[in-house]
Amino acid sequence: MAMEMDQLVALCKRRGYLFQSSEIYGGLNGFWDYGPLGVELKRNVREAWWRDMVAGHNELIAPPGAPEPYQMVGLDCSIIMHPQVWKCSGHFDLFCDFMVDCRESKRRYRHDQVNGRWVEHRGRRVFVATEAAGDEGLRDTEQKALKFFNLRNKDAGELQWDGGLVSLTTVTDHAEVLGPDAKTLGTLTPPREFNLMFKTIVGAMGGEEDAAFLRPETAQGIFVNFKNVLDSTRVGLPFGVAQIGKRFRNEITPRNFTFRSREFEQMEIEFFCRPDSSPQWYAYWRDRRYRWYIDLGLAGDRLRLRDHSKDELSHYSCGTADIEYAFPFLPPGEFGELEGVAHRGDFDLRSHMEGKLVRQGDQLVLEVDAEGKPRHRGSGKDLSYFDDQTKQRFVPHVIEPSAGADRATLAFLCQAYCEDEAPDENGVPQKRTVLKLHPRLAPIKAAVFPLVKKDGMPEIARDLYGELKTRMNVFYDEKGAVGRRYRRQDEAGTPYCVTIDGQTLQDGTVTIRDRDSLRQWRVHRRELVDELAGRVG
Ligand code: ATP
Repeated sequence: MAMEMDQLVALCKRRGYLFQSSEIYGGLNGFWDYGPLGVELKRNVREAWWRDMVAGHNELIAPPGAPEPYQMVGLDCSIIMHPQVWKCSGHFDLFCDFMVDCRESKRRYRHDQVNGRWVEHRGRRVFVATEAAGDEGLRDTEQKALKFFNLRNKDAGELQWDGGLVSLTTVTDHAEVLGPDAKTLGTLTPPREFNLMFKTIVGAMGGEEDAAFLRPETAQGIFVNFKNVLDSTRVGLPFGVAQIGKRFRNEITPRNFTFRSREFEQMEIEFFCRPDSSPQWYAYWRDRRYRWYIDLGLAGDRLRLRDHSKDELSHYSCGTADIEYAFPFLPPGEFGELEGVAHRGDFDLRSHMEGKLVRQGDQLVLEVDAEGKPRHRGSGKDLSYFDDQTKQRFVPHVIEPSAGADRATLAFLCQAYCEDEAPDENGVPQKRTVLKLHPRLAPIKAAVFPLVKKDGMPEIARDLYGELKTRMNVFYDEKGAVGRRYRRQDEAGTPYCVTIDGQTLQDGTVTIRDRDSLRQWRVHRRELVDELAGRVG
């Protein structure tokens, strides 16, 4: 599996899907650039989401599974917001991870991402730590323990293991811990809290009072604009507000290609509804969002919907489910989050009205300091809703489907990558690498080839290319054997290739070749645009 990921990473670089940011200066960990093909793919992911969730949504009828019809509108908010936003949302105090540093290797780890096992040899008990999980973690800790105790592989039986792989968070004292990259014991520092928000300074004065943050999520822009949306449109409950945009998170250990980056894009909906119907809306959005990934090609056995257990729920949430994908870089059986769908109750709107809230039993109450004053004051603005139907005023409940555009793009790439065989122009099978991307997502929808560079074929091909280009992203190629041109497009994920050949000169038909089935059929050149437009969505 690890091999497959290396091949995908290599393909992404070779074909211009993804590059390391600032590569010529050695790169910057956790930051990525999308190349000429990657930018089209990610745009298509975003556009598919916006079309399916927002622009193409019909507010006159209830979609299957929805309790009633609803409206959808969009927003595009600023990345830097008033610092009070993050105080009331909880990010200022709570958006933290714990990290541990290794004094020997100078490496930094996220405390909850280090695992390890207790092992004893001749009365000496050590916790051998690793960043790996599952079977890989077991193998890694065994190798490290053998090395540490100066044993050979054949002496592995002398090691007495005490239990399986557990998190470093279960170990209170680091004196007996062998760090993941250390040779000596006790080199890991105690865990320290680390706020994941990027800090910046607004304006020229540059004092601490001018400090601001790059947004760690897109949601808050929607909450603080709730009243603006109500006052400027004719939306009424239930309705959703969508936003796609950059967010920043100073991850301690960015890794796994774009999966855990420090700058990435989010596609998020805050769906406002009446409190009594919120459980039905939660179920609707969970299922709707899960189906979206399947419809765009993620396979059922690599995708799962996982409900959070009670103790995993955020402090405000009445229910959360993750949509997860079995990324090839994860150990077998493990899944990585693509999207979280959360029932957030009235936590967010109330926080921006009243101030930072905390849960006390079943209640959300204002957090106060030692003198009984609010820890972080809200805006004091009324963010409640007057329901014309019931003549009641209340704070709406919120369902939040929150997806990562970069993780979804990565999952679509992982799913699409495949190696198989296709016959060349002489009918001899040739190995090929192919990205079987859904036609809606494919960066290039079709490639246009004249079979040979003579007899008027390039002229016809160029005309057709010009016609197609006004409707979709197409690519023109007249160089080299047609089989090689096909394989280059297979690797770029182009679903259709159109060839202008001898028969075109006689009857005006062209050949279309399907990337996945390799089926070829002819259509008249007059019908080509409609034929392809109908297929690429
Ligand atoms: P994780 O548990 O993986 O850190 P999260 O549950 O904290 O993620 P949210 O803050 O709920 O993530 O973000 C919503 C979505 O944004 C995630 O489902 C994921 O697709 C994406 N996302 C979160 N963190 C990152 C990151 N560091 N890099 C890329 N995408 C991310």
